[in-house]
Amino acid sequence: MTTAIHVRGLTKRYGDVQAVGGLDLEIKKGEVFAILGPNGAGKSTTVEILEGYRTRDAGEVRVLGVDPQKPTREWRAKLGIVLQTANDAAELTVRETIRHFAAYYPMARDPEEVIAKVGLTEKADVRIRKLSGGQRRRVDVALGVIGNPELLFLDEPTTGFDPEARRQFWDLIKGLAAEGTTILLTTHYLDEAEALAKRVAVIARGRIVAAGDPATLGGRATAKAKVTWADGLVETDTPTRTVLELSRRYDGEVPGLAVTRPTLEDIYLTLIEAPE
Ligand code: ADP
Repeated sequence: MTTAIHVRGLTKRYGDVQAVGGLDLEIKKGEVFAILGPNGAGKSTTVEILEGYRTRDAGEVRVLGVDPQKPTREWRAKLGIVLQTANDAAELTVRETIRHFAAYYPMARDPEEVIAKVGLTEKADVRIRKLSGGQRRRVDVALGVIGNPELLFLDEPTTGFDPEARRQFWDLIKGLAAEGTTILLTTHYLDEAEALAKRVAVIARGRIVAAGDPATLGGRATAKAKVTWADGLVETDTPTRTVLELSRRYDGEVPGLAVTRPTLEDIYLTLIEAPE
C-alpha cells in the first residue's frame, strides 16, 4: 500500500456553515504534503477529521488504510500529532516529559535519541516552563514523534518563531522526512510550504482550489516573466529577448534590471481571492 491518506468528497457542516465542501486529497507514503489556506478555509476541520477527532457528514476517508471514525489502538499508535500548543506538564523537565509519553507507545523511540534529534540535549534537565517558545515547540515535536509514527500531523508548527528558529525547525522536519515519515503540515507561511513540501494544496471555502508541486502551482512556472529596469516594466513570455534588446539599447548594463516570475505568494493570493 503506497497511499497514506485518501479523501474523496469530504464534507462537514456546522449549522449553517459549510466548513468543508467536497474535498479530495491523496497523499502518498513518505511524502511531505502542505495544506495552505486562509483562516476559516477548513484546514483544521479537515485535519481533525483525518486524525479521528471529528466526525464527517459525508465522503470517503482512509488514513493508513483505516477509517478514522473507526479507530483502533494499533492505528492510533502509528500517528503522531503535533497540536498548535501543548503547555501542560510545565513543571516536568524535558527528559521526564518525553520519557513519560514514550511509555504509552508499543514501538516508542529511544527518548534520548529523540531529545538529541530535536536539539534539546542541553536542555534535557530543564523544566518545560523555563524553555523559550521555540524550544517548547521542539518538545511538542518530540512528543509527536516519540511513538515512532508512520504519519505525522503538524498544525502550524512554526507560528511565532523567529527566522533562525524556523530554519532550525525546518531542518528537523527535513530530517524526519528523510527517514521516511509521511508528514502532513498546515501552515500560513508560503516559504515554509515551499521549503518543506513536495506537494501543496490550497484550500479556500472548504475546497481545494489548487494542488501540486509548489514550483508549478497555479501555472506559476509558465506564467509571464516580469522584466523591470530603471525606467520600465514589461511582462513577457520571452524575457531573454527583452533583456538582449534592453542591453543593446543601453549599450551594455541595463540600470536596475530584474527578471521575476510570480512567487508562490502571488499565486496563492490569486487562488484564494478567485470568485467561486
Ligand atoms: P481553518 O483551520 O482553515 O482556519 P476551520 O476548519 O477551523 O478553518 O474552520 C472552517 C469553518 O468552520 C470556519 O467558518 C469556522 O468558523 C467554522 N468552524 C470550525 N469549527 C467550528 C465549530 N466547532 N463549530 C462551529 N463552526 C466551526
